[in-house]
Amino acid sequence: MNRTEPASPDLIDAIRTIVGERGMLLGEDARARSCDPFRSVPVLGPAIVRPADTDEVARVLALCHARGQRVVTHGGRTGVAGGAIARADELVISLERMNAILDIDPIAMTATVEAGATLEAVQQAAEGQDLLYPIDLGAKGTATIGGTIATNAGGNRVIRWGMTRQNVLGLEAVLADGTIVSAMNRFLKNNTGYDIKQAFIGSEGTLGIVTKAVLRLTAMPCTQNVAFVSLPDYASVLGLLSRARRLPQLSAFEVMWQDYYHLVASHDPARRPVEPDQPFYAIVEAMGFDDDVDEAAFAEFLEKAFSEGLIADAVTARSQKQVKDLWQVRESSEILVREMGPFVPFDVSIDIARADAFAQATRTALSERFGDFRMVTLGHLGDSNIHVGVHIGPETAMREIEVEECVYGVVHAFEGALTAEHGIGQAKRAFLPRHVAPGALDMMHRLRDAMDEKHLLNRDVLF
Ligand SMILES: Cc1cc2nc3c(=O)[nH]c(=O)nc-3n(C[C@H](O)[C@H](O)[C@H](O)COP(=O)(O)OP(=O)(O)OC[C@H]3O[C@@H](n4cnc5c(N)ncnc54)[C@H](O)[C@@H]3O)c2cc1C
Repeated sequence: MNRTEPASPDLIDAIRTIVGERGMLLGEDARARSCDPFRSVPVLGPAIVRPADTDEVARVLALCHARGQRVVTHGGRTGVAGGAIARADELVISLERMNAILDIDPIAMTATVEAGATLEAVQQAAEGQDLLYPIDLGAKGTATIGGTIATNAGGNRVIRWGMTRQNVLGLEAVLADGTIVSAMNRFLKNNTGYDIKQAFIGSEGTLGIVTKAVLRLTAMPCTQNVAFVSLPDYASVLGLLSRARRLPQLSAFEVMWQDYYHLVASHDPARRPVEPDQPFYAIVEAMGFDDDVDEAAFAEFLEKAFSEGLIADAVTARSQKQVKDLWQVRESSEILVREMGPFVPFDVSIDIARADAFAQATRTALSERFGDFRMVTLGHLGDSNIHVGVHIGPETAMREIEVEECVYGVVHAFEGALTAEHGIGQAKRAFLPRHVAPGALDMMHRLRDAMDEKHLLNRDVLF
């Protein structure tokens, strides 16, 4: 693979004149940062550049472009596809100082924010005006708006409000050569030419650095009914999903296979709302605007599901604390990291009706290839998105590529999507050509060549 030389000291000096001392982290200060949320992957390049505004981003990129300097963009570094990993010859540009909430408009129901603002900060600012920014994920305290746009993040409430793409009205970005592209649309309807923002959403930082965004807000629901249920078989999971979809206020439908729930429930008694004696578990959530009506509809939904034998056991939340506790069972990545040892994570989309068949086929394929293994399965099933974690023993990390080949072979056989919401990053780039049609891949290459002909932005991401 082609490599450029590490950034020269005079380039670093020139960048310092743009961003000032506060805008630079050098040497050990830069290396102390990990580019990955779950393992230590230090920044190997000489500096982390921290511009204060769009103009500084543009001037730094123009300089890097003129010198052929590669750049990796950092948001909150919670991405799980290795998209933020920076090598010795790459400069990091971090949006961390560009974190202002510029405006919350309660009439238009929009938030205008800088890209380094965290998801949680935006949610809190919206909440202050009785509004909701509905993108929600476990890493919201650290993940940034820019990162969620770059990865087109999904999360827990996609079934109701869609992915990030559906919640961004406009954005501003800086191209590889320093050109500022302002597409800060505030309208729900705007067909004035190409919808430029869509090129950047999900582009994983390869087409430009997102610096600002206009986000679509929604009225803050005032009721939240949550149930944690166990189910006797996969047909019941599908039956419950079908019923839940008829709840007008359905906001989440998360499913955990027994392998996942058993692991979590046996390592934390507080995360054991029901006995771990069934093959499937689900969190069903409905958020609405009328206490009595919503509670009655949710209770009726659960009663019918019980009477039809879809549910084996159920616990409903009676307080905000209980809501949090039930969701905590689903958000147990730290238990997985601790108890599974090294594991290879997967984030795939599979036809909902065949998701359990996929899980079984994956287990069979892993068993044939590796003998002993451990696998956990869970996901945003209502969105056809399943997360799988696979551990094959102490050599898991060393044999990661073999595990990936094995599991992605099954994904391909099931005509699934290589990644549902985490993106390709650097971790899955070897598998991209097999999972997209040649014409689509060719167009991706053409788009990237047109926008960043030197491939200076996130060089090792995607392809
Ligand atoms: C505990 C946990 C739970 C998670 N749950 C979910 C989930 O439910 N759904 C989901 O979709 N993801 C989830 N994620 C993954 C992660 O939170 C998302 O991918 C998030 O969007 C990353 O945001 P970030 O600011 O941390 O981006 P980073 O990790 O810093 O960057 C991710 C990618 O985007 C690029 N990038 C970052 N900022 C910009 C910018 N301003 N302009 C251009 N490119 C940029 C980076 O170069 C990199 O390629 C989870 C992660 C963790 C650790």
